[in-house]
Amino acid sequence: MIPQETVDQIMNAAVIEEVIGDYVELKKSGSSLRGLSPFTNEKTPSFYVLPAKGIFKCFSSGKGGNVVTFLMETEKASYPEALRLLARRYNIEVQEKERTPEEIAAASAKEGLANLVGWAAKWFVDQMRDTEAGQAIGRSYFAERGFRDDILERFLIGYSPDSWDALATAAQEAGYTADKLVESGLCKQREDGSIWDFFKGRVLFPIRDVTGRVIGFGGRTLQTDKKVAKYFNSPESALYNKSRVLYGLHLAKPEIVKEERCFLVEGYTDVMAMHQAGVTNVVSSSGTALTTGQISLVRRYTKNVTVIFDGDAAGIRASLRGIDMLLAEGMAVKVVLLPDGDDPDTYAKKVGSDAFQRAIHGDAQDFLQFKIKLLSQEAGADPMKRAEMIRSVVTSIAAIPDSIQRSVYLQSSASQLKMDEKVLGTEVAKVLHEQSKAEAKRAAQSSRNSLLRGNITPPPKASIPPSTLQGLPDVEGLSSKASEREIIENDLIRALLEYATELVVVAVEGEEGEEPATMEVPFAELVIHRLEREGIDIEEPTNQAVVKRFSSELDHERILTADQLAQDQDTRVQQKVAGALVQQHVLSPNWSQRHKIYPVVERDQLMSLLEDSLRRLHLMDLRKLASDVAAKLETADLSVDEERDLLSQKVKITREIQATLQHFGTVILP
Ligand code: ATP
Ligand code: MN
Repeated sequence: MIPQETVDQIMNAAVIEEVIGDYVELKKSGSSLRGLSPFTNEKTPSFYVLPAKGIFKCFSSGKGGNVVTFLMETEKASYPEALRLLARRYNIEVQEKERTPEEIAAASAKEGLANLVGWAAKWFVDQMRDTEAGQAIGRSYFAERGFRDDILERFLIGYSPDSWDALATAAQEAGYTADKLVESGLCKQREDGSIWDFFKGRVLFPIRDVTGRVIGFGGRTLQTDKKVAKYFNSPESALYNKSRVLYGLHLAKPEIVKEERCFLVEGYTDVMAMHQAGVTNVVSSSGTALTTGQISLVRRYTKNVTVIFDGDAAGIRASLRGIDMLLAEGMAVKVVLLPDGDDPDTYAKKVGSDAFQRAIHGDAQDFLQFKIKLLSQEAGADPMKRAEMIRSVVTSIAAIPDSIQRSVYLQSSASQLKMDEKVLGTEVAKVLHEQSKAEAKRAAQSSRNSLLRGNITPPPKASIPPSTLQGLPDVEGLSSKASEREIIENDLIRALLEYATELVVVAVEGEEGEEPATMEVPFAELVIHRLEREGIDIEEPTNQAVVKRFSSELDHERILTADQLAQDQDTRVQQKVAGALVQQHVLSPNWSQRHKIYPVVERDQLMSLLEDSLRRLHLMDLRKLASDVAAKLETADLSVDEERDLLSQKVKITREIQATLQHFGTVILP
């Protein structure tokens, strides 16, 4: 448990735009900040932060809430974990007593792992710095390779003694269990249950997440024996998901944003060597093929990537596919080809920092041009190979999501290939057509499947002309399909949130014989009162929760404000409120038009919105009743009395439905 005072202290210190800024490049847009969603692979920014309100809202995923919710989502953290992350960022001490082994075991698996792995990283650093073997073997290895001490420190480079259990013993003395050591991959278990140090005798490269927390290790052997694997990596765990991590990213972030470019290299030492040469906007996928998860990590900060290739042809060919993926994710890709036999590490050290920097900036060429050149050389005059090359280029171009960028590439590629642009364009169009056909088929398939599973009921056809307010993005996201009832509820709740304290004029019945009087009440009070009096239940759970909050505050004669609710404990409520608040603040007319959304509720429309919503909801209740009655009438063995009773109910309901419909100026026979 984190004491409430500490929670308050953390919440007061936390600046939402700073914290989110670690994950998303935010640009100012009016009184809010805007960027690309960290939750989806969107290409147009629809992620908003309102610093003044302490909330964020992502329209492409529907997520929203406060700074803690954000960290819970992005870090897949629990509530206390998220608070601790914030505490660390703002140097707030979280009072927790020295942990006993029992307490360590009780801590959540992930947090326990994080503690252990962070502890181990420090221990490895200490071993390299403070022990004789660490100095003589570990440090001297890096010194020989020309790495400076400040670079080793920056990357928390460490050394694991060449002993079967040095780490295992020290860790257990510090209170970590053998199970955790095995779970983290730092130790392996023998058949007899005893454990041994997996990274023994290796130098260690801690792998860190975007916040700089250590989550795993790469360990390099110092032996030259070819039979020993050069690198070992930590296995995947609750903490370490290798397809969502890029080595060096947390150190690279600020410079990536500043330079609007990210360099991508292959190895740990390449990243370090580039830092030493003064280039810090660099990351590595650590020898594995690039994943879309890794690409979206980079895209939070920039669209421009320069891939630095070692000059060996086989390696390059193998990487081409990964680069096509970069294009498909909307990145603008350049490549730098180093001389054969050199990687960034060896090359930077060979030519020196200045020449290296010039090379990676000046010699960068556009990826597609590079690919065409490379494949042309290989194909030579062979017509079959040439056809294959053209197909491969066409695939790359078709993968580019932006149509303008695509046509630019089409032009330049056609001229490079000495082909008619139209011919090449037709080929690209064919691929695109095939893709959209395949996609449509997949979509149809999956919607049919879900209907078959029976868990999606198609929304009923609206029999009432939609109000101007319908079609607003519901707070669960633009793409989700809300039912008709939910849409109406959402409109009403949004108005409630936006205009809770707005005074509206209502008529009150006077005493016998007196003139009816008018009075002003806050809109929220009116809404709650009317819902209760008319017996209308708000059904969608989050909407219902919001109504409950307002009504229990009203019992104490207080009117809630949306700002208060934005910090509510229920994350669903937070999300809903964030949606309403952000919408109120940031949706520009331009945005509305693009999405065919008209979010402006004029204050003088409030009353008609309320009446409208209440009647629509009432109407839905009536329709439901009518169909229940109709169903009962279908049943075979009704007594005469029962039948008469049901029929008279039916007539009553029908009348009420018609009366309600008149409100909309439409008469529809049910
Ligand atoms: P060094 O310069 O220390 O030899 P490097 O970074 O140049 O290392 P490469 O051989 O070019 O290493 O490999 C590139 C990356 O691939 C490494 O940094 C590492 O992440 C990964 N890697 C290489 N060999 C292995 C292996 N045997 N097991 C797992 N990963 C490996
Ligand atoms: Mn190397």
